Amino acid sequence: MKPSAPHHPAPADAAMRRGVEPVVCYPVDTLPPADLPLYAQARKGARKSDEVLVPAREARTFHVPAGCFFRISSVEGPQVGDLNLWNAHDLTERFYAGKTRALHGTHLSTGDRMWSSFPTLRPMATITDDTLDWYGFDEFGGSVHDVIGTRCDPYTAMLLNGQSYHHCCHSNLARALAAETGQDAGAIEAHVHDVLNVFMCTGFTRDTQQYFMKATPVRPGDYLEFFAEIDLIGGLSACPGGACDDQHSSDAAACHPLLVEVYRPVNDALADWVSPAVNAYDRSHGV
Ligand SMILES: [Zn+2]
Repeated sequence: MKPSAPHHPAPADAAMRRGVEPVVCYPVDTLPPADLPLYAQARKGARKSDEVLVPAREARTFHVPAGCFFRISSVEGPQVGDLNLWNAHDLTERFYAGKTRALHGTHLSTGDRMWSSFPTLRPMATITDDTLDWYGFDEFGGSVHDVIGTRCDPYTAMLLNGQSYHHCCHSNLARALAAETGQDAGAIEAHVHDVLNVFMCTGFTRDTQQYFMKATPVRPGDYLEFFAEIDLIGGLSACPGGACDDQHSSDAAACHPLLVEVYRPVNDALADWVSPAVNAYDRSHGV
């Protein structure tokens, strides 16, 4: 954090230096746009092909073929979820929260893409519907569905509280991926990565710019829906923080399950659609 009493005096031209207008680091006008009308056409009449109920304080994996949709719904009560995505054929291609944040901002909604890690850097999924899009940004600068908060994990809990807690989202996702792959959780945890915080309401405090959370506005029936751009394995943890209004790495909060549903299109809207190609950079790195 910045010192409240700086060690160095401001220079004479401080106001001028501070007053320079910011420029957006990554203007997105040249990104290939998400074809939302096409996806909406494909979604019409799509049939549910699978569903997974993620128990409270646990995670589950699920499969979504390219060209299908998946929906994460609030059931029973306010609950946030930590979402990981992997290429179903190569776990090293996984969701890249940091670059997604750099491209689309701190909180995602309809039309935003979930981009994959280097060297593929391509859309893994596109958000096609968000019943919480009305929330916008509140008076504290908070919003929902962030890509800033990494995931709750036992290492940070140990660092801050000196206690072992095994139902943080990181461990939940590691156990779920271990069950998916047949490897042990300790070996597979390196594939667990920074998440999309589904339904979580977060921001940065105005004075110190510290990461904050507040009670999620999600209610049963709300959902976030995605189009799978490639064959996916998803991992979703029903965070031990529950609504994330108080604590998140303990059994103190009231927690609820989350529902994942997969929908397969039945019309031919996607007849000419193909998965996005991997990134075209030749990887020579100037050598
Ligand atoms: Zn969590």
